[in-house]
Amino acid sequence: MTKKHLLAGLLASLTIAAALPITFGAAFQSPAYAKTATKATVISQIKKTPDLNPTSSVRAFSKTTYQQYKATFNKDYNVDKMSPSSVFNHHQALVYTASPTLRKYLAVSMKTWNHALGRTVFKTGTSNNYTIRVGFGTGGKDHSLWDGLYKTNKLWVNKSHFNSDSYILTVLQAVSGKKVTKPKTAADKAAYVKYYRGFWEATITHELGHSLGLDHTPYLDDIMYAQSGDSSSSIKYTWTTSKKGNGSFAGFTNKLSSRDINRAKLTKLLGYW
Ligand SMILES: [Zn+2]
Repeated sequence: MTKKHLLAGLLASLTIAAALPITFGAAFQSPAYAKTATKATVISQIKKTPDLNPTSSVRAFSKTTYQQYKATFNKDYNVDKMSPSSVFNHHQALVYTASPTLRKYLAVSMKTWNHALGRTVFKTGTSNNYTIRVGFGTGGKDHSLWDGLYKTNKLWVNKSHFNSDSYILTVLQAVSGKKVTKPKTAADKAAYVKYYRGFWEATITHELGHSLGLDHTPYLDDIMYAQSGDSSSSIKYTWTTSKKGNGSFAGFTNKLSSRDINRAKLTKLLGYW
């Protein structure tokens, strides 16, 4: 960056600072927004952020502000406390699975979050020292409705979907809207394996997202995407049709979006992990 550009950048940032509420001045000393912000300030800052994406402007409030307006943050960003307090100690959960098959998928999913959040949020536990246990499940009668499930501190992967020869093809067909047949050529088989791996990694990453307090979103490029959202949970709005986002489908790529990452950063501030 040349000096001229630097100056222009500085002027631009000064303009932004002047437009923000007076309390922003405290940002130059740590912590920002040391006092509890007013509800009006919280709401106006939330309104400036993209849909369901708590960008940095709403992540500089004081601890007391997050405590006081927890319900507002929950509703506007589809988050809520989903793990008992015992799951995260010093912002870290110990995750264990007895299944050698699931272990490699789980390792990728844990790394996905740890890398995105810049810290070891999920650490590998042992059979007698863990706070989240991962295993195969069937979920009873409605097992066909879910691929993964997180409840209390247990993470389940649907065994029948995982072991099915055709389930991933069904999902591919639903997402693409095109007819998908069984892979025959070597190239098709390699592509199928890639989709299969990506899908189950993404499923576990999604469930770990729940453990962090993230509820669903309608965006296809989010790991936390779900086909529908209903008013029974603490959500900003209900939906039955999905939103495209950046055009990718996180359910096959296991890639977190900025929305996923920013929401996880927010739930840390809210004390959910
Ligand atoms: Zn879910």
